[in-house]
Amino acid sequence: MKQEITFIQRKELKEKPEMASLGFGKYYSDYMFVMDYHVENGWYDPRIIPYAPLTLDPAAMVFHYGQAIFEGLKAYKAADGTIQLFRPEKNMKRLNDSCDRLCIPQIDETFLLRAIKQLIFTEKDWIPDGEGTSLYIRPFIFSTEPYLGVRPANQYKLLVILSPSGAYYGDQLSPVKIYVEEQYVRAVIGGVGHVKTSGNYAASMKAQEKAEANGFAQILWLDAKENKYVEEVGSMNIFFKINGEVVTPKLNGSILPGVTRDSVIELLKYWNIPVHEAKISIEEIFAAHERGELEEVFGAGTAAVISPVGELHWNERSITINDNKIGQLSQRIYEEITGIQLGKKGDPFNWTVKVAPVEV
Ligand SMILES: *Cc1c(COP(=O)(O)O)cnc(C)c1O
Repeated sequence: MKQEITFIQRKELKEKPEMASLGFGKYYSDYMFVMDYHVENGWYDPRIIPYAPLTLDPAAMVFHYGQAIFEGLKAYKAADGTIQLFRPEKNMKRLNDSCDRLCIPQIDETFLLRAIKQLIFTEKDWIPDGEGTSLYIRPFIFSTEPYLGVRPANQYKLLVILSPSGAYYGDQLSPVKIYVEEQYVRAVIGGVGHVKTSGNYAASMKAQEKAEANGFAQILWLDAKENKYVEEVGSMNIFFKINGEVVTPKLNGSILPGVTRDSVIELLKYWNIPVHEAKISIEEIFAAHERGELEEVFGAGTAAVISPVGELHWNERSITINDNKIGQLSQRIYEEITGIQLGKKGDPFNWTVKVAPVEV
């Protein structure tokens, strides 16, 4: 698709927030990318315009039947000012996988990545450069056609918004307490758990609320059929280090294939550390702990990169992992991935993509 991206300038730029108050998802930059779809035109009118509220018809199908998907990735500013993305082509591909599952028309991945780079370059002053900070990029698509019949919509909007985000952790990765959920499930095989739909998140909130009310930070989800096999932790993929080997649940159709998950697996292989993708029961995890072999547990996702698990609660039992301290391997993976993202370490896998003016 060879399309020109229209640019509409704002009259006045917003005031930038203080680095210390960034948090996550609180502030949005001056511009957003928007593109529309109509069944008769395909995707059309790509534009970078001032960030502003949208007007939608109350009958817009997204409000009723929920065709809504999203992605999440980050732009990083290296010490020398270089702007980098981390494996963004994987997010573009996954966006199309999500589109496919929800009967949303496919997007041109190369074009969207070019548009995102152009938006980021326009907004380069919004990329924070403090330790652990980044510019969070949120592409999303939803149905807009006003119609109350149930079928895939004929009209959609694709937007990309940018949010400067602060360090997920303070000085140190801090281990979290996790509740193993047995009443509610996140996703089923044959459903939509393997793609990034908004509905997955809506379905997860009840359990998250329950876990928080009981003093836990996140949920460990089990499979929906047997309530036995480990799937994910909160909105991250999960890894266990047992007796020197690393294991993560095998993708089965109800687990989200995380970019961070894939990167962790690749790194471990590169380091010659045994890593397996397998069906793992929660029982096996507790048994490994009993034998003294459960060495580390961590979540992996774009937001936190690595999130160490310090405690697991299941079936009236609580176990503490690695003395509630960050494991050596968790720390090493965190440093390697963030080092690559920030251009502080070599990039043997060619994972980073530079955002430079010549490319837009
Ligand atoms: C986004 C997401 C992940 C992590 O994926 P990354 O690509 O690593 O950010 C894991 N699980 C769920 C349910 C997700 O939505």
